[in-house]
Amino acid sequence: MKRILIVEDEASVREGLLEAFSEKGYEAAGAATGEEAERLFSAGGWDLCILDVRLPDMSGFEVCRRLREKSSVPILFLTAFSDEANTVRGLDMGGDDYVAKPFRLKELFSRVQALLRRSGQEKGDRFLSGNLIMDLRNRKVERDGKELLLTPKEGQIAWLLMNAWPYTVSRDELVRCVWDKDGQYIEDNTVRVHISRLREKLGEYGGISYFAAVRGVGYRWNVPVEK
Ligand code: CA
Repeated sequence: MKRILIVEDEASVREGLLEAFSEKGYEAAGAATGEEAERLFSAGGWDLCILDVRLPDMSGFEVCRRLREKSSVPILFLTAFSDEANTVRGLDMGGDDYVAKPFRLKELFSRVQALLRRSGQEKGDRFLSGNLIMDLRNRKVERDGKELLLTPKEGQIAWLLMNAWPYTVSRDELVRCVWDKDGQYIEDNTVRVHISRLREKLGEYGGISYFAAVRGVGYRWNVPVEK
């Protein structure tokens, strides 16, 4: 049974979520403050944390920062902000996804399931490809046992392409997954710069690049991925 920690100071929302997740077969516990969340979290054994951004004692981003010192468990922010910049900062600080309030339960469930899948809790916890190993819990990549210094976005691109192998990921899907949660416009050049940096960092395997552009479509991972 998956264990989910729900951090939300609004009692009605917290109780509603606890009930809904229990009904779906999760084991859920609630915390009303950042401090309480930290305390519960320290006990360990969580599979995912749902974290409200506005809490009475500290921001959800701060809670995220503290949890990340101890754990790579997936963190999903609940945000009331229409402020994209804030949310993106939250993701850069180690959050994995966010759902804006007011949200539909169905949407929240599907995000939670996706995160659990991605975090490798429901299938292996690593991808192996050539001489690379990707740790799905934190999307870090090792080559021959040495960690590559990827930015979170580069890690996300690598994950997306490896996960899709042997299929091609369209440019639109890539942009949507890596940048563009709310439909903001991304310059082609921005995408190209990230892609080429990632390609450089990953290097080659058996004389071929780990992934390649598919003209007019998107990008495809070239080296078989063992999942
Ligand atoms: Ca709140």
